Amino acid sequence: ALAAARSAAGAACHLADGTRIEVFANLANRTDAERAIATGAEGCGLLRTEFLFLDRDTAPSVAEQTAEYQAIADALQGRPLITRLLDIGGDKPAPYLPIAAEENPALGLRGIRVGLAHPQVLEDQLRAILGVRPIGQAKIMVPMIASIGELRAVRAVLDRLCAELGIGEKIELGIMVETPAAAATADLLAAEADFLSIGTNDLTQYALAMDRGNPAVASGIDGLHPAVLRLIADTCRGAASQQRWVGVCGGLASDPLAVPILIGLGVTELSATVAIVPEVKALLSGLTLDAARAHATAALACATAAEVRRLAREFQA
Ligand code: PEP
Ligand code: MG
Repeated sequence: ALAAARSAAGAACHLADGTRIEVFANLANRTDAERAIATGAEGCGLLRTEFLFLDRDTAPSVAEQTAEYQAIADALQGRPLITRLLDIGGDKPAPYLPIAAEENPALGLRGIRVGLAHPQVLEDQLRAILGVRPIGQAKIMVPMIASIGELRAVRAVLDRLCAELGIGEKIELGIMVETPAAAATADLLAAEADFLSIGTNDLTQYALAMDRGNPAVASGIDGLHPAVLRLIADTCRGAASQQRWVGVCGGLASDPLAVPILIGLGVTELSATVAIVPEVKALLSGLTLDAARAHATAALACATAAEVRRLAREFQA
């Protein structure tokens, strides 16, 4: 019985009509990976690699990083591991990555901008990810993309390293959609990215121009705001035009009221917090794509986040 429960927990998730939806977990360290598998996650849709870089005086070496990524990949027992490149900035400084004081850290040097400003850090991290075996289990995801030039710059380093290391296998390189710029140009980005994963925490912050850490505006921050839903719809449309899949790894993927809307908008992968994975899988198994699409269309016609939430509660009831 225990084995049956385990295999059900680890089963691939499908909607009630058979549509395949991948349910992954967000991880921030090794122990998370073990817990994720126990809750039935099908892999990791977002490994926040910051844990390796913060609270220390020197950058982690390639060998140290590879060992950590490999341990997490092993804990996932062959399931996909989407490794996000370092996403720190002026608000979370590391002493070995000097970033001048900024008035607006959220609009400053953060995410991939830091990696491009410190090419050795970027190269070391890519090298470390390429060291994970089996090759290809660890995919790469670029945070805070605003322009295609940033993706091209990362791709160039990745291609150079693969050539140098004699890696002929395809290593998937995806982007996070966290800026309105990325959502608006999703078709252009999807032409060169292997997948797109929407970071709804930052996308909401930047779409609404509300600091996600500022309690004074916290009550206004809701990823179900119609502006954010339209950006998600734009992203799905742009990605579909290039036959690329879209996931969500921001907080909306862990919000049961949001999940049917995301599926209806065209999202096919959700990366949720570890604890909520079983609930998300159960919810999806009772949903059909047709119902989700009709619900998403209705949500897109709402004028406020409160209206969307009311609609979503009725849908769930
Ligand atoms: C996001 O912005 O939604 C996201 C997943 O990244 P983080 O929360 O780590 O900024
Ligand atoms: Mg983010």
